[in-house]
Amino acid sequence: MDACVFCRIVEGKEPAQVVYQDEEVFAFKDIHPRAPVHILIIPKRHIASAKDLSQEDATLMGRLLLAANRVAEQLGLQGYRELIQVGREGGQTVFHLHLHLLGGPVPVW
Ligand code: AMP
Ligand code: ZN
Repeated sequence: MDACVFCRIVEGKEPAQVVYQDEEVFAFKDIHPRAPVHILIIPKRHIASAKDLSQEDATLMGRLLLAANRVAEQLGLQGYRELIQVGREGGQTVFHLHLHLLGGPVPVW
């Protein structure tokens, strides 16, 4: 999906600081970090939003969480926050599903 900035990052057409990838998952630094560590973890396949997930995506979502754990360990985080914003009213601005991984430490909620 060429119009999608995160698809373009996965395809290497847009620059990003990549911290992890496997067959289905890709992770890179957020361009406007909200915490000392701010990583975005995304499925390589384009899914616009968490509300577009289907039953077949259950394993994929598990993989996103496991990837987040690996990245957190890799970066030496003891605790962290995982956040998914869903739809414009939920604060979502990029419509390719992504899990925010925030740490080091996170701002008070
Ligand atoms: P959300 O508001 O939940 O949709 O989060 C979108 C996130 O993507 C924001 O935190 C942006 O800073 C981040 N972002 C947008 N474009 C890029 C990019 N080209 N590279 C890295 N992060 C980006
Ligand atoms: Zn996309």
